[in-house]
Amino acid sequence: MSFIQLENLTKYFNGSADPAVASLNLTIQKGEIITLLGPSGCGKTTTLRMIAGFEHPNKGTIHIDGKEVYNEAQSLPPEKRGIGMVFQDYALFPHMTIMKNVMFGLGKWSARDKKQRAKEVLELVGLEGYANRYPTQLSGGQQQRVALARALAPKPHVVLMDEPFSNLDAGLREKMRFDVTNILRKANTTAIIVTHDQKDAFAVSDRVVVMKDGIIQQIASPREMYRCPKNCFVAQFVGKTNLLTGIMDDDKMNIHTHIGKVTLPEQWKERLETVKLSIRPEGCHLTEKGAYCGVVERVTYGGEYQELYVRLHNEPHLSKEPMLIYAPIEQDVEVGTI
Ligand code: ADP
Ligand code: MG
Repeated sequence: MSFIQLENLTKYFNGSADPAVASLNLTIQKGEIITLLGPSGCGKTTTLRMIAGFEHPNKGTIHIDGKEVYNEAQSLPPEKRGIGMVFQDYALFPHMTIMKNVMFGLGKWSARDKKQRAKEVLELVGLEGYANRYPTQLSGGQQQRVALARALAPKPHVVLMDEPFSNLDAGLREKMRFDVTNILRKANTTAIIVTHDQKDAFAVSDRVVVMKDGIIQQIASPREMYRCPKNCFVAQFVGKTNLLTGIMDDDKMNIHTHIGKVTLPEQWKERLETVKLSIRPEGCHLTEKGAYCGVVERVTYGGEYQELYVRLHNEPHLSKEPMLIYAPIEQDVEVGTI
């Protein structure tokens, strides 16, 4: 059995006809870092709260470390599930020192063991020199590391983090993605992280679970998710893309789109009438003499690359949306260039 197993988890809130989470199945291996990714309201927090025991599912079972912590007949209370929780606002006690904050979660441990363990985890998160400070005397990133240290202190089976990076500004956010992953790896902890930000999800996780309307759309590594999205929603949610409608020809070997023909790989099994093609902007190149012609309608500077909006005119009557293409920053491109 997997380390964490969610089977058929379903949650209806009172008064709602649609489930917040619908028949969710997910297995997680020991030591894995998983993110739940999706737009606001898709059921990420509800899933996390059901695992933690703060919310009761209407249906389904939850196993953690081989133990059934929830089924429709019985539910283990949150404090007995072996879970470390990091809240979005960190929820540190302002009147307690960092040391006391971290020791707080250790309940019945002896005073000596509590101190020893608090020292260990503060060292793990790189804050050994801050034990006697108060939370307000720390930066946002440091406060988050304290919250993580507090969650890790009792050696939980799994750490749950809800939108851990959303209160941090851009530069710090990037650093914390790196730091949090390092700390979780060093502690050899299994973690489930909730985020609505694709970059967070890709940067920190072994596998990403994309959700929409309470339903899992795809579970995959960041690379696989980006390169082989299962549907249009996933393709658009995990990065920018061009979605083209295509029609398969009778021998089902080629897809015809408004910009031309795409030949399918031989091992392609699915045979459909109409399909959607997802072409990433970095998969297209602007050259003097390419396969397609078009007009550059807009150029914006993305920093590492230029974003070009190009209207292809092989079959202009079908071309509704311009294609998004990334060009290297050193390439000379002007609006209107053909
Ligand atoms: P996410 O974390 O992905 O933004 P949530 O899990 O918070 O989404 O919410 C999923 C759905 O459940 C939303 O439609 C939300 O309005 C609803 N919901 C969440 N919590 C409650 C609650 N306590 N009572 C009623 N509806 C809720
Ligand atoms: Mg949420």
